Amino acid sequence: MKLGNFELHTLSDGTFALDGGQMFGVVPKALWERKAPADERNRIRLSLTCLLIRAGRQNILVETGIGDKFDAKFKDIYDVQHPPTLLAGLDELGLKPEDIHIVINTHLHFDHCGWNTRRLGGKTVPTFPRARYFIQRAEWQHALNPTERDQASYIEEFFMPAEPQTEFLDGEAEVAPGIRVEVVPGHTRNLQCARIESGNECAYFISDTVPTAAHLAYPWIMSFDLYPMETLASKKRLLPELAQKEAIVIFPHDPNVPWLRLVEIDGEIATRSVT
Ligand SMILES: [Zn+2]
Repeated sequence: MKLGNFELHTLSDGTFALDGGQMFGVVPKALWERKAPADERNRIRLSLTCLLIRAGRQNILVETGIGDKFDAKFKDIYDVQHPPTLLAGLDELGLKPEDIHIVINTHLHFDHCGWNTRRLGGKTVPTFPRARYFIQRAEWQHALNPTERDQASYIEEFFMPAEPQTEFLDGEAEVAPGIRVEVVPGHTRNLQCARIESGNECAYFISDTVPTAAHLAYPWIMSFDLYPMETLASKKRLLPELAQKEAIVIFPHDPNVPWLRLVEIDGEIATRSVT
């Protein structure tokens, strides 16, 4: 898809599954299971959506999926389904790992930074040898010292070996012309979303602030969120603004649709498919 001077591609790193109750927080199953049917272990299917931005000669990747550095127990718990994989998707576009110049991780949960690194010859190395990786400094520090409540979400092997190539941000930053990251607290304290603007057009990688289209509704907030009231405030600030701009919103985990255009109809936020 064209967005002004940019070319945007959503790339899939396959799917995984999480407990439906955890995904929808205070929303009762009687409501959410109409939108997301649960399996016999009460899990719902989720995508692992990454975004490739081609900006002239620069190739910028937002998120790197779940990767392949996990054992049989992990695969069973989260029911990881590959293919497709991020690297195969890049290959289909004619891109090798060394062709990626910038990697943006919204946060360091294992389903967002999996391909930051890979195992090669008995070592774990950065997957994208020429890339600069951008993360909020405070998110990195938290990932190395999580709490008892969220430590299952962080796996050091997924991000630590890329530390020498990592640029640590303290708040909002322009990582390339027209591509900004901004801190959107809620899911974690220092989650960053990516705003892509060219001319009058805007696309927004909203990350786990709104993991699927169903989560556009204000009270639909994951129980994983460390600061759910801040997620609510972030959504109430962001979604009307994005709808007013008719921005394209990219969801990290929607199994049916990677992106939708937000619009305003009679003062209400509505969606349109992206063509
Ligand atoms: Zn996630």
